[in-house]
Amino acid sequence: MRLHSGGMERRDVVAYLDELFPPALAEEWDHPGLQVGDLGLPCRRVLVALDLDLALIERLQGVDLLVTHHPLLFRPVSEIRPETPLGKKIAALLREGTACYAVHTPYDSARGGMGERLAGILGLRETRPLAPRGRLYKLAVFVPPEAVDAVAEAVFAAGAGKIGRYGHCSFRAEGIGTFLPEEGTSPYIGEPGGEERVREIRLETIVPGERLGAVIREMLSAHPYEEVAYDVYPLELEDRRHGLGRMGTLPEPVPAGEAIEGFAAAIGAETVRVYGDTAREVRVAAVCGGAGGGLWAEALAGGCELFLTGEIGYHEGLAAAEAGLTVAALGHRETEAVFVDHVAELIGRRFPELEVIRA
Ligand SMILES: [Zn+2]
Repeated sequence: MRLHSGGMERRDVVAYLDELFPPALAEEWDHPGLQVGDLGLPCRRVLVALDLDLALIERLQGVDLLVTHHPLLFRPVSEIRPETPLGKKIAALLREGTACYAVHTPYDSARGGMGERLAGILGLRETRPLAPRGRLYKLAVFVPPEAVDAVAEAVFAAGAGKIGRYGHCSFRAEGIGTFLPEEGTSPYIGEPGGEERVREIRLETIVPGERLGAVIREMLSAHPYEEVAYDVYPLELEDRRHGLGRMGTLPEPVPAGEAIEGFAAAIGAETVRVYGDTAREVRVAAVCGGAGGGLWAEALAGGCELFLTGEIGYHEGLAAAEAGLTVAALGHRETEAVFVDHVAELIGRRFPELEVIRA
């Protein structure tokens, strides 16, 4: 966190959002992050919206940072003209000096983001991602025995070593390291020109992809060697903390129609399209906001009887129903509207000096 005599900058808010909803979790096709503007300017007023729609441009005056769910710039732009809706929006942002930042799929996938929010509204328990996201890495570093605890502490503090609800997970094996310092080096052990054999610990631990950069940085700064020997391996394991949608169990079996109605009422969805049997009792269910229909097969494979999403194609809905899944489409905007209150609340709580408004 950077603090300035002139107060905070927009980048402070963005750094906080990136920590909660790491950009590394973005879908490959996505384009989240800074859309328009300068993050290095002061920040006093933040506006949170699902989209920058045309009606919102009138409310940009005095807004330093606009945080949206959906990116404003999704496809390459070949021209910016004020008579087009996109041109009007970009012109308004530049005129008002408002920076526009989109959180999008990192918010959908991150632990504590959209998926868990919607699962909470539905009342799901023992939830897990419908489509896990996030990569895991193994870090192995060779450390002299007297420095191993300091290096381990540094990497744990930066986010390494978590397996489920266990922290500080590592493995340490002792062996002999060899090296020959060349002329011009200043080795921690030995002298330039003489081969050394030293006791070293191979310290290995697991690192989530979104923390890898920070973990390596902290490891290098805690390590006493001038040149640190370390390896980073990508793992085939899934990181089950993050991912699109969530599945889990309802507290008790209820008719599918009842679960759908309750959820629709809770999020304020008025138009619901249902495919499949609504009278059946359901216990295992999944939810994914927005255009999540494509995940119906994952829901079915995970043992779900009910799948709630924002949008699903007609043929996908039919196929899901015929395969034995009850699916309800409750609207893209309606299922994602939780973003606005949630993100505004997070920013307001973290930065009480800011004025945070909701679209
Ligand atoms: Zn969406």
